[in-house]
This record gives sequence, C-alpha cells and structure tokens, in this order.
Amino acid sequence: MADKMTPEQRHRCMSHIRGKDTKPELIVRRWLWHQGYRYRLNVKSLPGKPDIVLPRYSTVIFVNGCFWHAHEKCDKYKVPLTNPDFWTAKFKRNRERDERNYKVLHNMGWYVLVVWECQLEKNSRRETLLALSRRLSQIYLDTHNVNLNTPYPTIEDEMPIAAES
Ligand SMILES: [Zn+2]
Repeated sequence: MADKMTPEQRHRCMSHIRGKDTKPELIVRRWLWHQGYRYRLNVKSLPGKPDIVLPRYSTVIFVNGCFWHAHEKCDKYKVPLTNPDFWTAKFKRNRERDERNYKVLHNMGWYVLVVWECQLEKNSRRETLLALSRRLSQIYLDTHNVNLNTPYPTIEDEMPIAAES
C-alpha cells in the first residue's frame, strides 16, 4: 500500500503525522489518556477556555505556547525586532490576561496547572509528564481526604514469623 505513494505523497503524509505528534497539547492529552485520566477539552464556560479539564481532580491544565504566552526566560520567547513596542504591549496584555484567568479559576476552586511548550521538547518531555502525573495524584489525595497512614494490618503482620534454627 505505502509503496504506491509517490515520494511527494509520502512526504506529505509523513510530515502530517509528525506535525500531529509534536503538537504540545496532544502530547499531554495522549499521555493523560494512556495513564487512565479522563478529561474534557476546551471547556468554553470556564475562564480562559482551559485546554484540558479533569473534573474528578478539580484541575484545569493549560498547555501554553512559549511565544504567545510570553514564557519568561525562555529561548522560544523573544520580542520581534520589528514593532517592538507593539509586541511588548501585546505580550504584557497576554500575560496579564492569563494571570487573571488563573486567579478566577483558583477562586472557583480549580487547581490550575500550566505546561509550557518548551517543557515538552524531547529531552525534558518524560520528566514533565511524570511530574504532571505526580501532581495529579497528590491533588487527588488532597481533595479526597485519602490518608495513606491508616493503620490497617498489613499482610506481613498476619504472617507467622519464620523461625530458622
Ligand atoms: Zn518556554
């Protein structure tokens, strides 16, 4: 089947797949899905229209592009050389809008997590996604009053101690 594609078709097909795979939001969604998390997308009724909403975890996740959301001290964020004043003002507005939305969401009782595009690049992707899972587990324990220190007897307690001669 693949052999019938012209080189050009194959290239277009491959670049389509690659483009899809590297989209930051999809990386996060796919990870969460495979970890068993269930979520809603782009919930319009919430401030800032969070990219991913996990109702069971009272958590919203924003997957932010470093340029448009003006990620501070990030290589991917640079004020363009043409029209710097326009861009500086625009980035300032974007940043303030984000902060405002996070605050309102927080006051509504949501945990707000932000994943930056640069944190999903190959060398740091796994660390970022694992940290995200750890954070969600912690939120779940905190919000469901799960106490891991409950002194239920463990299997070891019930087992007779082996007496070796
Ligand atoms: Zn960044």
